[in-house]
Amino acid sequence: MKQWLFLAASIALMGNQALAQKYFYVEVPFKAVSEVGELRARGLDIAGINLENNSVSLVVTENDLRATRDLGVLSFREVDRLDEEYKNPIELEALLIDYEKNFPDLVRRESIGKSHQGRDIWAVVLTQKHSKVQAPKKAMVVDAMHHAREVMTTEVAIDIIDYLTKNYETEPKVRNWMDTYEIWVVPMLNPDGNNKVWEEDTMWRKNTLGGYGVDVNRNYPYSWGKCNGSSGFQFSDTYRGPSEGSEPETKAMMELISRVQPKFNLSFHSYSEIVIYPFGCEPQTVPEPDAQIYLKTAKELASKLVRDSGSGSYKAGTAYDLLYNVDGGSIDWMYGKEKVMSFVVELNGSSQGFQPNYQKWRDSTVKRQRPGWMYLLDQMAAPGIK
Ligand SMILES: [Zn+2]
Repeated sequence: MKQWLFLAASIALMGNQALAQKYFYVEVPFKAVSEVGELRARGLDIAGINLENNSVSLVVTENDLRATRDLGVLSFREVDRLDEEYKNPIELEALLIDYEKNFPDLVRRESIGKSHQGRDIWAVVLTQKHSKVQAPKKAMVVDAMHHAREVMTTEVAIDIIDYLTKNYETEPKVRNWMDTYEIWVVPMLNPDGNNKVWEEDTMWRKNTLGGYGVDVNRNYPYSWGKCNGSSGFQFSDTYRGPSEGSEPETKAMMELISRVQPKFNLSFHSYSEIVIYPFGCEPQTVPEPDAQIYLKTAKELASKLVRDSGSGSYKAGTAYDLLYNVDGGSIDWMYGKEKVMSFVVELNGSSQGFQPNYQKWRDSTVKRQRPGWMYLLDQMAAPGIK
């Protein structure tokens, strides 16, 4: 009995220590994009970039602060505490149940898979069930929170559900979208990781396989592990997993996309105020004739998204143009295997980071994302690549 108590106390203490872990955002300059890749090769956790002053933000623990000294640190600040208003997996599920109850003609909730720890991965389908448009309706798929700590992305997904249900009766544009299309929203693809963010580690990024976790957005079976755009080391923040497509979150997204064959996929990440299109491994590019429409759509999407500063808009490019090589990423698989026009939006700027003050930034962030996803809904009837 005493041993058990001791064990329980030790575990509780470990939990507290982990929670008490102090993190810092450290901003360092870069001259060429290749330098960003070098930082990552050193095993540093790259949080985001700021294209205004060509700087990279790293997330480092208090103990590792010293290791960044030789990088020409521009600034550093402690990572803010995570505001309670952001959703945990249980709160998200309750919220989705409410929408389904309140808008039974417009919302259907569906579990698209189970995480390693047995949590449902929820999707909602937004469409007017009784419209006269013949099935199958054209679809768009929005996903959020491949990465656990990117909590604002789930808020944007919730706002899409909220906006389309509450404005159905009054806004003809919304009514038309909901009558004509199926809009699939996956608000929290990585519920295990998010649970860990709340319970243990606010800066957790991956899922929780084996305790070390897999980076879900390096696990897709397209160019998996191909171009040094991920890590084979289990404890790296970009660990690609034991084999391609091994993770339940990856499988859930792939099965959904293969089944509904959407015209667009919009995948929310944070942060950096950029729009990313395929491919992630330099020098691969989207081939003609798709390139013209794909790149034009990405640029227009980026131009609709106003930066947190209130002036200027997001920038569009490939991952290697803007950040570094990425292999096994979702958008490469979406387009490379399924011919779905897929985009990553990295929302919020480096001043806000992964978990901006909720009161101050939640509403303005979700509102600033509306012109983006609405633009894609407007493009559903335009010529595309499928
Ligand atoms: Zn991310």
